[in-house]
Amino acid sequence: MNITIIGAGPGDPDLITVKGLKLLQEADVVLYADSLVSEELIERAKPESEIIKTAGMHLEEMVQVMVERASVGKKVVRVHTGDPAVYGAIMEQIALLNKRDVNVEIIPGVSSVFASAAALGAELTIPELTQTVILTRAEGRTPVPEREKLRDLAKHHCTVALFLSATLTKKIVKEFLAAGWSKETPVGVVYKATWPDQKVVRSTLENLDEDMRTYGIRKQAMILAGWALDKDIHQKDFKSKLYDKEFTHGFRKGVKQ
Ligand code: SAH
Repeated sequence: MNITIIGAGPGDPDLITVKGLKLLQEADVVLYADSLVSEELIERAKPESEIIKTAGMHLEEMVQVMVERASVGKKVVRVHTGDPAVYGAIMEQIALLNKRDVNVEIIPGVSSVFASAAALGAELTIPELTQTVILTRAEGRTPVPEREKLRDLAKHHCTVALFLSATLTKKIVKEFLAAGWSKETPVGVVYKATWPDQKVVRSTLENLDEDMRTYGIRKQAMILAGWALDKDIHQKDFKSKLYDKEFTHGFRKGVKQ
């Protein structure tokens, strides 16, 4: 038996992969949970397909539904927002499905981190400035392992992408400043990237918390921080921006290696 997990992309129904769309259109049963998966995309399933919203279901219930349908020969797909590999909580499903002899195939999707970079017109890896992107989240109610504290990650002075962190901007700013980032460091926030009500906010560490409040952004936002987000990076000699001692040091060290 097989079940397919499909990355839906960030929102715009046209941003699913060709392969993902094909499998969605062939499916007899489509499960999807997130308010971040577009209804318009789900409507592209064949009219006679069974559409199941899983928001109110717990894990075992969901797995039971998938196994029942798959065991009578139906093509079952589960659609996840963005790319399933980041904050998709897919591993717990896969573990239970495997126990019931169901194989899971994963079709990747466009993660919101890349849709947000596109909305900001940004390259996250600028030659000689930073060659690393850290995908993480600020610690809220969900704990983050001790070795991955934001303050420690930020010491790399690379581009940092923060998922699930829109309500935690005070903490983010505190941690980044403690890691030696300057207050002027650019931060790009994209609310609902690729949706019709997308908002793009260009801020700085210093203004981030206030700007989030001004624009009323409390969820469904990607926060991208670092000098790669400088909107003028393509016009300027970005090296002149590296007045931050720590940053200059990190940069030189990076070049030597
Ligand atoms: N697997 C998803 C992430 C799911 S976790 C992906 O690859 O994008 C949910 C978090 O992802 C949100 O809190 C937000 O930080 C981010 N996110 C998901 N869709 C988004 C979108 N369209 N615009 C901005 N951020 C988004």
